[in-house]
Formats: sequence, C-alpha cells, structure tokens
Amino acid sequence: MESSSAATVSAGPSPGPTPADLLRRLRARGAADPVTHVERVPARPGVPAPWPSWAPPELRAAFARRGVGAPWQHQAQAATLAYEGEHVVVATGTASGKSLAYQLPALATLLADPRATVLYLAPTKALAADQLRAVAALELEGVRPACYDGDTPRAEREWIRRHSRFVLTNPDMLHHGVLPGHAQWSGFLRRLAYVVIDECHTYRGVFGSHVAHVLRRLRRQCARFGSTPVFVLASATSGDPSTAAGRLTGLPVTAVTEDASPRGGVTFALWEPPLLPPDSGPSTPVPPQSTGDHDDLQQVRRSALRETADLLADTVAEGVRTLAFVRSRKGAEVVAANARRALDDAVPGLGDRVAAYRGGYLREERRELERALLHGDLLGLASTNALELGVDLVGLDAVLICGYPGTRASLWQQAGRAGRSGQEALAVLVARDDPLDTYLVHHPEAIFGAPVEATVLDPANPYVLAPQLACAAFEAPLTPADLALFGDGAKEAVDQLVAAGALRQRPTGWYWRHRERPEVDLRGEGGAPVCVVESSTGRLLGTVDGGSSHFLLHSGAVYLHQGVSYVVDDLDLVDGCALVHAEEPDWSTHARDITDLSVVSVRSYVDAGPVGMFLGEVDVTSQVVSYQRRRIATGEVIDTRPLDLPARELRTVAVWFTLSPQSLTLAGVQPADVPGALHAAEHAAIGLLPLMATCDRWDIGGLSTAVHQDTEAPTVFVYDGHPGGAGFAERAYGTASAWLRATRDAIAECGCESGCPSCVQSPKCGNGNNPLSKPDAIRVLDVVLANLPE
Ligand SMILES: [Zn+2]
Ligand SMILES: [Zn+2]
Repeated sequence: MESSSAATVSAGPSPGPTPADLLRRLRARGAADPVTHVERVPARPGVPAPWPSWAPPELRAAFARRGVGAPWQHQAQAATLAYEGEHVVVATGTASGKSLAYQLPALATLLADPRATVLYLAPTKALAADQLRAVAALELEGVRPACYDGDTPRAEREWIRRHSRFVLTNPDMLHHGVLPGHAQWSGFLRRLAYVVIDECHTYRGVFGSHVAHVLRRLRRQCARFGSTPVFVLASATSGDPSTAAGRLTGLPVTAVTEDASPRGGVTFALWEPPLLPPDSGPSTPVPPQSTGDHDDLQQVRRSALRETADLLADTVAEGVRTLAFVRSRKGAEVVAANARRALDDAVPGLGDRVAAYRGGYLREERRELERALLHGDLLGLASTNALELGVDLVGLDAVLICGYPGTRASLWQQAGRAGRSGQEALAVLVARDDPLDTYLVHHPEAIFGAPVEATVLDPANPYVLAPQLACAAFEAPLTPADLALFGDGAKEAVDQLVAAGALRQRPTGWYWRHRERPEVDLRGEGGAPVCVVESSTGRLLGTVDGGSSHFLLHSGAVYLHQGVSYVVDDLDLVDGCALVHAEEPDWSTHARDITDLSVVSVRSYVDAGPVGMFLGEVDVTSQVVSYQRRRIATGEVIDTRPLDLPARELRTVAVWFTLSPQSLTLAGVQPADVPGALHAAEHAAIGLLPLMATCDRWDIGGLSTAVHQDTEAPTVFVYDGHPGGAGFAERAYGTASAWLRATRDAIAECGCESGCPSCVQSPKCGNGNNPLSKPDAIRVLDVVLANLPE
C-alpha cells in the first residue's frame, strides 16, 4: 500500500536497545550462529523540492492542510513530467509518497479545466477505497471523486458516470463494465486527461498481459472519442520500470527512480535456521492412506515459522515494536501463538502484547490494530503481506520476514516498514528450507548488490491476445489501424478468430458475430472458471480459473478465501463447481501431478558443443494424481492421498537444455545416475528462476529425462504453467547462464549431505522426489556452464 497517510511511529520515550545490540542478543541464543550476513543500509536524508510553479495555490494549501509542506524531489519531478504531457512511471520505495506524484498533476488539471476527468486504477478495491479517502480529504471543489466497482450500488452508477471527475476503479471493472458500456461513458472518456495506474508492478504474468490489452482497449475508445490521456504509473521499486510500464501501456514511458524521501538506517540480517541433528527431526510416518511412494520430504532444518516465533518473542521481550511477515495467514497465526506462549511462560500476561493479523477485518478494526501497535499497547504483530490486508504501517523498530517473499521488490517493501527517521531499525530475513531462500542467505550480493527484478508480462501471448481482440471487436469493429495498437501477432489472432467463426470480415473491418459479449476472465488462464460454493448455504464464494482448479479445489483440498479456510467436499468438473465447507484444519494440502511433454517448435537456440540451450513451444500433458497433507506448524507430511482427475493439455513456452551423454560420462556422472542428476538440477533450477523473473515456483513446471523422444538426449525442461506462456521461460532463456550459475551455487552451498528441500527437493514433485542425486546435479550444471557462452 502506498499512500501519503501511512501511519508513522513517532519517536517514543523509551529508546530500547540499538539494532546492533538487539541482533547480538538474538544470535547468541543457540549453539551455532544462524546469521549468515549483516548489511548496514545507511540512513538517507530527504531531498525536498519547491512546489512546481504550475501547481495552483489552492492545491498547495489543500496538501499543506494534510501535512504535506513540500514535495520530495522525485515527486516534483514525476509530477512535472506528467503535467507536461509525458507518460511517466514513478518507481520508488515503500512510503516514499508516490501518490503525490500523480495526485498533483491530475488534480491541478482538474482545477484548471473544469471539464477534464481522471481515471484511477488500483489492483484491489481496498486500495482504491483508501485512495478515494485521500483525494476526498483534500476537499477540492468540483472534483467529486468516487469509487466505481462491483460494490457500487446501481443507483449511484449513473451519477458517477455523469458527474464524478475522478473515478477510482480496478482493471476488472474497466474490462467488464466501463469498456463494454463505453457509450454510457462517452462523456467521461471524451474529457479524460489522466489515467493513473497504481501499484503497476502487480500486473505481471498472464494477468498483467490481459491488463495490458485492457489498457489498449481503453486507449482505442479514448481515441474514438478524441482524447489522448497521459498515463501516470506508480510502481514498487522494480528493475527496468520504463520497459515494463511501456509493455503494460503500449506507450513510451519515462521512469523516475531516484527516491528522495528520507529513510532511517536499517541493520539487515540474513538468518538461516540451524540444521536439526539427524535423529531429532520429526519423523515422517507412513500412514495407511499413503500411496507408498517415496514422497516424504525429510525436514532437516528448524522450521522458519518456529524460528520467527522465537525471534518475535525475544524482540517483544526487549520492548521492541516488531512486525513479522509470514507468507500464509495460518502461518501468521502459528507464529503469533508460539510467541505468545513463550512470552507468557517468561512473564505471565506478556503474551497479550502479541497479535496475529487476520484477514477480513473492517477498516476501523485495522486502524485500531495499527494504533495499538504504534502506541505500544501491542508490541508484536504477525501478518501476511500488508498490501493485501491493508495494514499501513511504517516506522517500526524491527521487521521479521519469515521466508523470502518471492521478489527483491517485495523484500524491500516489507523491510521498508522498519526504520523511523533519526532512529535505527532491525530487519531479519529468516530463510525457509527452499533452494531460493538458501541461495539468498549465502549470497547477500544477490539481495543487496543486485537490482530488483523486472516485472515480466507478455502481451503477445496468443491465448491472451485473441480473447482480448474479441472483446475489442465487441466494443467496436476492429480496423486494420487497430491491429498495430494490439501489437505483434494481432493479425494472426484476428485471422484465427475469423476462421473460428467469432469475427466476420467486412470491407470496413472485423465484426463480432454474436449478441453476447465474449466471456474473458482477466485473472483466468485457460479453461472455464470453476465456482466455489459453500454446501450448507449455496453461497458462491468466488471462482478459480480452470487451469488451477485441479490443484486448488480437488476433494480434500484446504482452500483459503479472503482469510477464511474451507475444505473441499467435491470438485464437479462437469458443472464446473466445487462444494466446500468452512473448516480450519491444522494442515495444508499440496497437490501433485505427473507430466508428459513434447516439443512443438523451436523458437531460438544456442549450440554450445555438447550442450544445447533452447526456447520454444511445447505441449504439456499433466494430471493431478495425489495430494499431501502437511502440518502447518512444522511442515511435517501427514499422508499422501490419491486423486482421480483427468489429464489435461497445455500448449506453452519452455526453455530446455540438452547435454551429450559423453559429456556427462566425462564429468563423472554414471549412466545410472543421469536421471537423478537431471531431476535434481531441474528442481533447483525451478526454485531459482524467481531470482530472474517475477514469478514463483508455482507459475512454472519442469520435466527431466535421460533421453527425450524429441531431443534424443538427456534433457531438462522448464516451462510456463500458463497457456501460451507468460514470459518466464523466455526470461530464463535470456538469462540462462546467470540463472544456472545461481542454481549450481545454491546446490553446492547447501550444508545437507544428500539433498534436502533447501536445495534439490521440491514440494510439488510428481515423482515423490525420486530419484535425486545432489552431487551429480552439480556436475551436470558444471558441464552446461563450462560450455554455454555468458
Ligand atoms: Zn540441501
Ligand atoms: Zn520432480
């Protein structure tokens, strides 16, 4: 959440321990030192700028009433670029005041031109609602800001279309409501001066590719009505924001990345929970329900959740205001409960100073929780990602991050909650047993020395482009000139829509042939969405895209919806509906699949002697065959249960490498060990890809084989788990040597003996993590790296 109204802790009366002292005490607890690296992120003074001369006095006065005396330099710079008509993206850190950068030019224009309008897009309704409050609080005459989303009462909608000049909505509403109803919006669109896209780094992968075309559809309607709005985008710190924003909007976008807001100094520690002695770890029982394959993930490290709970208890005991980020809500509750117990054991009653942040809180309840933490009534809070939940806190004394949040961008966003001006703060990243986490705590340069990752999206994905062109044609017939707007592949997609009978070609363009508008779900990724229905009440809780439904909604799956836990009773594939009941078991479920793959075409390749590196289209057949139940608190596998679901086909983009059998023999890999070597390398490579692209390992799949029917060689495939690809495999191909170098190092540097979840084991392996050979995986990757050009 980015807003100028983030609650900030004011310097309290008790100074508490310095971050360095605090860290010294935390790491002195156990026998082995869990800290692998400490980085000092220095404090930064703010660089204020004068108000731009074009900003009208009444607007300056309105901001001054809200406590903004003068803009920071990056705000003024971005605002002036936008005011002068340049498309601009401001990509700076947490609480750097990005909202002022777009509010200033947008509102100045609304004040100067009483007819002009502004459209604001946020990824969530909650963020739009917060932004509405911020704009409304300025009390500017004639702006009449209003949210227009699925919750807006019908009766108010017409008033908003006619009278609001600052409409706040989300891409889904733009896609489903505004653009198909453009005739009703013609007055608003004709006068549209600015389009603001907040938190634009969230538009990535397939969803981002859809949103990119929704924005092109918006630009087309604006052009028809004679307006050419300026786009202002706000992003978390991200790599190459200009290119990503350009791909998203289809326009040249200037980036402002120099953060001029002040920041307190942060001591940032990387923390690896200790390995447990071999006999003390929880054993993995094989219950009668187990399918009996070798699917047990031996847990060899102390769990990150337990470690985080201990750290939270220790910091709270020191009187330090601490926010712990945990990846799941249930995990956050486990952390809070364990910390409370430890504190109560030490000082009865002290446990009350720790809380878990639950989803579904009302805004007032969230603010109350924030207040309690800021005033010190509450000292510790365990929460999932604050953006989703609307916690808006900065200036804490310590932030604990339980598990790498997936991207450096989110890591910095979370760490950015620590540190108030003039005071030092502590941030700790606690590694989970996962190859990427392991790599990062041993490679601090990958966190502190590397630029944050680029936001990846691929508007040329034919599985996104064709349905989006259908939507565009429904809104107004497509002309040849439109095709350039939608980019490469648009003509081909239109031809296919004509061949499929969806469009009709006439001399004046391509026409949508049906009465109903095309059904396209922006967040979907192939297959009709599956409805999630509560059995007892018949209430529709939501939908899950067809592509994920087998993984998320199989019988017995634990399904989280807005922070509430449900268990699936039955997945009815014919009706596209899953029946669920509310239940909160203390385990999570993990579906597993088996996969077959064939190469359709090669797009690009590198011939490197005994090694080949390829990018191309593949057909993947996969079938979800079973699921594991794992204890949330410990990660212990309870059992594995079989499932009876049909196989599914996916045409997508893959990156793959081949090695000659001779090169493997030369490297010392025995023929019998080749499958285990490739399989282990595949798992780790999938685990490390998020280092290169903003995806997580669940967005990608893999397959390895000692001899593949299409490549006729030992091969490792890594593919996008979305029809048509989402840009991840392409990114992997483009950064292949850096990606595989990191993979190799992650395996080699893991302290385990024969492979563990921190290096070569995968929680979603369809083969039960068998066979796997850790030392041979290193040999395989050494052969690839020795031959592949940098
Ligand atoms: Zn390991
Ligand atoms: Zn596997």
